[in-house]
Amino acid sequence: MEKTNFRCLHCHKLVSLKASGTKHRNHCPYCLWSKHINTCNGLMKPIGLTFKKEGIDRYTKKPKQGELMLIHQCLQCGKLSINRIAGDDNSYSLLKIFEHSINMPTNLRKKLLKQGIEALTKKDKQEIKKQVGIKNL
Ligand SMILES: [Zn+2]
Ligand SMILES: [Zn+2]
Repeated sequence: MEKTNFRCLHCHKLVSLKASGTKHRNHCPYCLWSKHINTCNGLMKPIGLTFKKEGIDRYTKKPKQGELMLIHQCLQCGKLSINRIAGDDNSYSLLKIFEHSINMPTNLRKKLLKQGIEALTKKDKQEIKKQVGIKNL
């Protein structure tokens, strides 16, 4: 029988596997924690946000605005990965992770950059708010 829901290992809420805006839900929409599936099965902590790299716009010659992505780090093996945000992910949890990630240790920020992941900073706040749909903050 196919599983239709799972219990989040971090916040213990029951999560439906049917998500809007994503075919395969890979993280909890409430606390946004994930699990390192098919590998070490460790808990993956949401450590920040980034924008998907969409290349350079042909006309403006400026980088195109990519969609907002979550950065996860596995607490067990340390692997860093980026994941799409689902339509029903909690906007306030996303912003909390962002606020927290502004003060992320420099060595972690550098480690992410080495993998081509640019953790967002204060200057990105307007765009983040736009994408998560929160107007007044
Ligand atoms: Zn959770
Ligand atoms: Zn892992």
